[in-house]
Amino acid sequence: MKEKSISYIKKYLFNILEEEINNILLIISKDYNINNIDKYKNKDNIKKNLDNFIDKYIRCLGIIKSGAQCARTRNCCSSFCKIHQKTLKFGKVIS
Ligand SMILES: [Zn+2]
Repeated sequence: MKEKSISYIKKYLFNILEEEINNILLIISKDYNINNIDKYKNKDNIKKNLDNFIDKYIRCLGIIKSGAQCARTRNCCSSFCKIHQKTLKFGKVIS
């Protein structure tokens, strides 16, 4: 698989999740005859859950010079990106 940036993956997954949520809400609104079901759709919650998922499974666990977590995607079968696979100069995120 070709490596993609975190923001690309985030956008891609968000679109899939939003479409699925719209479909599910439409089915629920038809089955239970509920109007304005869109108020149950919370984009901030989708983004928050997506961020948690990405930090846990896709984002590199290396720490960069500023002390923040590396923003690159993990290399295949590793917890680190290509750079942090070789050396962890500033340590790693404890999970
Ligand atoms: Zn990294």
